[in-house]
Amino acid sequence: MKVTIDTDRCRGHGACLSCFEVFTLNPDGYADAISDPIPDELVPDVREAVAACPEQAIVVVE
Ligand code: SF4
Repeated sequence: MKVTIDTDRCRGHGACLSCFEVFTLNPDGYADAISDPIPDELVPDVREAVAACPEQAIVVVE
């Protein structure tokens, strides 16, 4: 699994930051995600972040 942020959708709510190993807020106040494959142990946390994002801005590539 990899994730990217749809920058047209992200509104910087920060709900994804519960999974801080993967998501951060950049200086502009929008989310960034690591570009590496998600480690297996973080996949459940990433799925929670995807579900929590109110803008459906987290794009998952399986
Ligand atoms: S929860 Fe969604 S809208 Fe909010 S910062 Fe994260 S990716 Fe952006």
